[in-house]
Amino acid sequence: MPHVVTQSCVGDGSCVYACPVNCIQPTPDDPAFELAEMLHVDPTTCVDCGACTTACPVDAIKPHTRLTEEERAFEVINAAYHAQARGPRAKMAPVRPVLEVRDRGEALRVAIVGSGPAAMYAAEEVLTVPGAQVSVYERMPTPYGLVRTGVAPDHRRTRRVSRQLDAVRRHPGLTMHLGVEIGRDVTHEALLRTHHAVIYAVGAAVDRRLDIPGADLPGAMTATQVVGWYTGHPDHAGRAVNLSARRAVVIGNGNVALDIARILTMDPEALADSEVAPAALRALRASRIEEVVVVARRGPERSAFTLPELVGLRGTPGVALHVLPEDLAGAPDGDPKIELLRDLAPDASGRRVTLRYGLTPAAVRGDAGSVSAVTFDRTGGGGTETIDAGLLVTSIGYRGTPLGQLPFDDARGVVPNEDGRVVDPATGAAVPGTYVAGWIKRGPSGFIGTNRGCSQDTVAALVADYNAGRLVTPPDAPRGAGPGRGAAGTPPRGLLRIARGR
Ligand SMILES: Cc1cc2nc3c(=O)[nH]c(=O)nc-3n(C[C@H](O)[C@H](O)[C@H](O)COP(=O)(O)OP(=O)(O)OC[C@H]3O[C@@H](n4cnc5c(N)ncnc54)[C@H](O)[C@@H]3O)c2cc1C
Repeated sequence: MPHVVTQSCVGDGSCVYACPVNCIQPTPDDPAFELAEMLHVDPTTCVDCGACTTACPVDAIKPHTRLTEEERAFEVINAAYHAQARGPRAKMAPVRPVLEVRDRGEALRVAIVGSGPAAMYAAEEVLTVPGAQVSVYERMPTPYGLVRTGVAPDHRRTRRVSRQLDAVRRHPGLTMHLGVEIGRDVTHEALLRTHHAVIYAVGAAVDRRLDIPGADLPGAMTATQVVGWYTGHPDHAGRAVNLSARRAVVIGNGNVALDIARILTMDPEALADSEVAPAALRALRASRIEEVVVVARRGPERSAFTLPELVGLRGTPGVALHVLPEDLAGAPDGDPKIELLRDLAPDASGRRVTLRYGLTPAAVRGDAGSVSAVTFDRTGGGGTETIDAGLLVTSIGYRGTPLGQLPFDDARGVVPNEDGRVVDPATGAAVPGTYVAGWIKRGPSGFIGTNRGCSQDTVAALVADYNAGRLVTPPDAPRGAGPGRGAAGTPPRGLLRIARGR
């Protein structure tokens, strides 16, 4: 009875470390890990101990006998991954090198800006240092970044990752300051007066913009606006989304585009007991949308969505998924996403999501001042095509924004860094005591759990700098922290070897 990884996998690797026979791949030390669409249990070597199910923060792993009909696809996906020749593998999963912390006779104090996954995984890692104190500063009134304001409300299991982040938050060495925006309410310099180092884990908050005529018409929205509307992000409270037309167009076909298409077409009653914003639920109940067309510039073999998300969309009750046969003609055989698209059964019932390919947006048409259609050029020549729609959502990626005086790579939308150390690109020198983790460090890609290794790498660089005396002792006591407050114990003297708890 092998276990099976299913759709909500967030790729944090907890299961890999829990598995006694290293049957879950790829492992975090594998270059394929960061790009993997999910992790996979090898059914031929799984010993059915269930350790992975306990370790998984989002209940993504099930014994194969407990899969739902729709989840059966994941049995095939897990097995197919391992069926490909991948060479011999180690008997045990790799263990990351331990953090070695030099005792400087003072508690390590780190400020972390942001409280999304990257911030909380960084806090978890810093707090493995005995006596360490972490102050988390979050500009929003609620913590956890996109876990709360990005992950779709119907992805209930994925949202359970917040329980893992809650456990980090409860650590006595951590103090959470909500509603504090660094750069506005508190300066970088002020943080360095009370902490050895500052880690910025502020995410990539803005959308890449589509620069075509009409893109600013009413009825044209970005993914951030629509996602913020349905997840109840305070920045988007009171926003109206035009659901009065029969068709919406989403430009871009990554997982966020599929989330938006699914939320706009699924039965709103299936969202009623979720964390969907009440105003969005009311609007969805009155929605007239019958079809969402998800449009990509390139062909189906370059689809940006992941296979698990496609499986999930296909299995959404009351939503018919369509692809035009001509869009699949010429697509290569053997690609599991394309095979799944080819196998879609014709279904005229309910609302529909149509995936379109090979269309480059050219102009947004307006009628009485709001969106009425979108015109596309067929990619590679072959004329134009116009799709009528009353709502347009662009979902073509995210980028970070500059942070005060910190260096910024405007082309990539990230803070320039080496292993998480912020560097001045003009001189190549590290900015003292200043680090980045998560999307602002490496750009907007990967899953929630991808940020774990990313943050661990940053903390490893920070601790190396602390050991080498490159982090100066902060002159002031932390704000509101009396002696010993929040500390997990007095750090013992000498060189500490810190085992990583997982
Ligand atoms: C719409 C959407 C849906 C997604 N769904 C999934 C999914 O289902 N499964 C999955 O595995 N991954 C999903 N992801 C990816 C996942 O959310 C990201 O990998 C992850 O959130 C990135 O973490 P982060 O900590 O770098 O950034 P974020 O999660 O964005 O956190 C950044 C935090 O910093 C705060 N902040 C910013 N500036 C400041 C400041 N100056 N002062 C104080 N605080 C500040 C922000 O308010 C925010 O809380 C999704 C992403 C998006 C955009």
